Amino acid sequence: MNIVILGPPGVGKGTQAVRLAQMGWIHISTGDILRESIEKGDTLGNKVAQYVHRGELVPNHLIVEVLKQKLQEIDCNSNIVLDGFPRNVEQARALEGLIKVDKVLYLKCDDEQIIKRLTARRICPRCGEVYNIITKPPSDNMRCDKCGSSLIQREDDREDVIRKRLEVYHRETAPLVEYYRRNGLLEEIDATGTIDEVFDQIREKIEEWAKRK
Ligand SMILES: [Zn+2]
Repeated sequence: MNIVILGPPGVGKGTQAVRLAQMGWIHISTGDILRESIEKGDTLGNKVAQYVHRGELVPNHLIVEVLKQKLQEIDCNSNIVLDGFPRNVEQARALEGLIKVDKVLYLKCDDEQIIKRLTARRICPRCGEVYNIITKPPSDNMRCDKCGSSLIQREDDREDVIRKRLEVYHRETAPLVEYYRRNGLLEEIDATGTIDEVFDQIREKIEEWAKRK
């Protein structure tokens, strides 16, 4: 079975995909496969590297090439979860030539809650440990439990930055949600709960589909 995980930035797509990977699914994240491709250093990887090093978005056709290369390395009987791809309708159409998408899990969460979650994130600049002042606060007043450094808020976790990312997401991805809804592939998941609560819903859906197959 091949599924796509869709949803706004910060909703926990990667976290849920990792949980599926722990159950034996193959997790394909766009960020990871682009990094792998650059490390490989072949012709394709070098092309990708040029964009990444200039800080530009990697064009659709290159992402599709990288994905194609990755899929060729994977046993075709595997269960695959795609995270971060497709992010627009053009990419969704390109994906159809590569792989059959069986279901699309749409992790739904409203913007205000995403902002609340992400602006609560703090990281340790020394060891990289991630905290959340609401759900996972450090035990000692804004200092890292592991190394004692003062925690900071990343530039990316500031409210104005998050609002901009959400705007881009809505513009690009809302048509994609509609596209998959029309195709009958879309399944909505309420992503407002905890990681475990969201994952329980995902697991239930997958078990349901497996029974129907
Ligand atoms: Zn630390």
